[in-house]
Amino acid sequence: MDKKQIWQAALGRLELTLSKANFATWFKNTFIIEIVDNEEHVILATPHAFAQAWLSKKYHKDILNSLQEVSDGKIKKITYEVSLVGDEKTVAKYEQQNRSSTQIQQENFSSQNKIEKKESSLGVFNLNPKYTFDTFIVGKNNELAYAAARGVAEFPGEKFNPLFIYGGVGIGKTHLAQGIGNEIIKNSADKKILYITSERFTNDYVDAIKGGRMKDFRLKYRSYDVIIIDDIQFLAGKEGTQEELFNTFNEYHQKNCQIVLTSDRPPQALSAFQERLKSRFSSGMIADISEPDLETRMAIIKAKLSEKKYNFDDNVIRYIATEVQKSVREIEGILNKIIVQYELRRIDPTIENVRDLITVYNEQNKKNVKFSPQQLIETVASFFDVTVESIKGVSRKKELVTPRQIAMYLLREELDASFPNIGSELGNRDHTTAMHSYQKIKTEVAANNRTKKDIEMIRERLYNGSYE
Ligand code: ADP
Ligand code: MG
Repeated sequence: MDKKQIWQAALGRLELTLSKANFATWFKNTFIIEIVDNEEHVILATPHAFAQAWLSKKYHKDILNSLQEVSDGKIKKITYEVSLVGDEKTVAKYEQQNRSSTQIQQENFSSQNKIEKKESSLGVFNLNPKYTFDTFIVGKNNELAYAAARGVAEFPGEKFNPLFIYGGVGIGKTHLAQGIGNEIIKNSADKKILYITSERFTNDYVDAIKGGRMKDFRLKYRSYDVIIIDDIQFLAGKEGTQEELFNTFNEYHQKNCQIVLTSDRPPQALSAFQERLKSRFSSGMIADISEPDLETRMAIIKAKLSEKKYNFDDNVIRYIATEVQKSVREIEGILNKIIVQYELRRIDPTIENVRDLITVYNEQNKKNVKFSPQQLIETVASFFDVTVESIKGVSRKKELVTPRQIAMYLLREELDASFPNIGSELGNRDHTTAMHSYQKIKTEVAANNRTKKDIEMIRERLYNGSYE
């Protein structure tokens, strides 16, 4: 077989293991440039930098497997290159972009100014002018999502439509999604961008239905070039709104207008969503953001400090990055506290005072709550798609026991409720049951990533809901 046949055969195998959308998105315009090192090493051409990043990071194993199958195990290595053949427009643009990226950094200051001047027009679109690509720190946890966002901003509606960004709490989904909007306006000021949370979308829709103003609603929602809908997971179970979103989605898609969606989980994991919506969500590009690693957290801290013209000792920065791991939002919260203290005292912060501040911050965060035990239980119930009555009820089915125990755990952690109170909130159970449940979930959070993630998402809902 020659290299062309080998790649065709490998593609045939890959096609069977991937979704149609993913296959079409990532393997279009790929080919083998050459096979070197005694037929062991394949140099694979990809049409642009983010296909290169994506294939090598997400699909390397699959690609290698299929190449090994078709070569009887001979091929052992793959190098991914961006090739000028294929989609030349993309490549040329990307090459130029890469070349000028250092320049962009240097021009950072002047572009900031430009953005500020446009602030009034940006305000119309609900975009926060601070959420730009320039202020977004790229690390291993978000490099693919970032590349995808860049791609979308460069060719809105053309390349990856929709772009679906998902990931946990406070790790940059909104920042990146709005970054796309800000970048598009920076490049073409006449583009109309709609940024909206899914809750706002729901409320607008419900109001329009009630007031008999659906025509206006549609006119308004469909008059933009780009629509960004944040935290789509909150549409779970909202049939009417989903129906309307489906129509809106199709309109944008048909007009080749860009759609950007964010969510706390991937499309296939969205429960209480219409299948046809989920398949629409998956039809373009899906990119995840995970938690930043230590190095990225340090880079973020340094960037935030230098934005404010501060600089702390490296040890202190490392200490903060080690202690605060959950989300970038938390890192920012702690940093702000430290800076206030620093300004008061005019002494460089040491690890000792940072440690105290972090402890106090965590305590305050816990106490500063604005939701009731009942709201907490409702939030847990809706997260797991079960009713409040069944959580409080007697059934010992696993689908109910887990939410029940998590509700108990959160009542303790978030509201400092006593065990007897927790027991009585959850269907008059004994305080020893509450203690046992609390301990059990606490152990699970430490050991089980799934439980930890679930709880993070529930917390996010709790705190987001209460700020409205
Ligand atoms: P999410 O929408 O995922 O909950 P946000 O986008 O609101 O999170 O991010 C929370 C805060 O952290 C924001 O102030 C945002 O600017 C900041 N942030 C998140 N990720 C980054 C990053 N990679 N670089 C710089 N700032 C970030
Ligand atoms: Mg967000």
